[in-house]
Amino acid sequence: MIRGSVSIVGAGPGDPELLTVKAVRRIQTADVILYDRLVNEEILGCGKPEALRIYCGKAPGRHSMPQEAIEKLMIKYAAAGNQVVRLKGGDPYVFGRGGEEALAVAAAGIAYEVIPGITSAIGAAASAGIPLTHRGLAASFAIVTGSRCHDHASPVHWEGLVHSVDTLIIYMGVSTLPEIREQLLKYGKNPATPAALIENGTTVRERTVTGTLGNIDKLAAAMKISNPAIIIIGESVTVRDQLLSMEKAARSQIG
Ligand code: SAH
Repeated sequence: MIRGSVSIVGAGPGDPELLTVKAVRRIQTADVILYDRLVNEEILGCGKPEALRIYCGKAPGRHSMPQEAIEKLMIKYAAAGNQVVRLKGGDPYVFGRGGEEALAVAAAGIAYEVIPGITSAIGAAASAGIPLTHRGLAASFAIVTGSRCHDHASPVHWEGLVHSVDTLIIYMGVSTLPEIREQLLKYGKNPATPAALIENGTTVRERTVTGTLGNIDKLAAAMKISNPAIIIIGESVTVRDQLLSMEKAARSQIG
């Protein structure tokens, strides 16, 4: 009989305090922790000292562990009776290949659960002072990948997004930002639409740059923004500037 199990756990956007209570509990009791590159290493400290910690991400200059190999490891350790935690950045079901992993363990007849995490859009937006919806400015948002600009098999429907969604949040889009910008402008997005980039959101290394769709690619290049970063495009980006100027005014009154 198989006694082991797999918990596919969202580690949140970076700040370890943004883990869920359930995630912490599973990490504390895990025998094996398979973790990704974007998982804050501090989180691994919650695990049992003797727990096996296996890095599944990309080492600098190396390829990442193939998805199939990760799935095999999850199944191997769970089948041997271990409590396996598969720890992934943000939320496992948002561009995290968590669905593929759930399918693989389910097909192997292994008990599993998925524990959600705060996805980077939600975490980074909160941290940068950008509400994703805001009365009068934005009534909808969409999370989109920027990595499929050249993928004709499963393209992003930029035209539909331009005409139907108020706030766009783009993951994995730093390197394709010029193409994304071009697509949005082509389908009629106003170049004056406020835009922001948030790098390393919710961590001590967080950096935010704001501008407009018209100039955000140049600002990103000038500030050398690199991954992990999200792009936010929409009117509610202006709330950040309002908040910052109010904070500044409050500080000068105190001073
Ligand atoms: N499952 C993850 C996303 C994985 S895809 C989640 O739910 O957040 C990886 C992309 O996530 C990165 O290219 C970047 O766009 C985004 N990302 C992850 N962590 C981030 C962070 N701390 N700040 C900004 N963007 C982040």
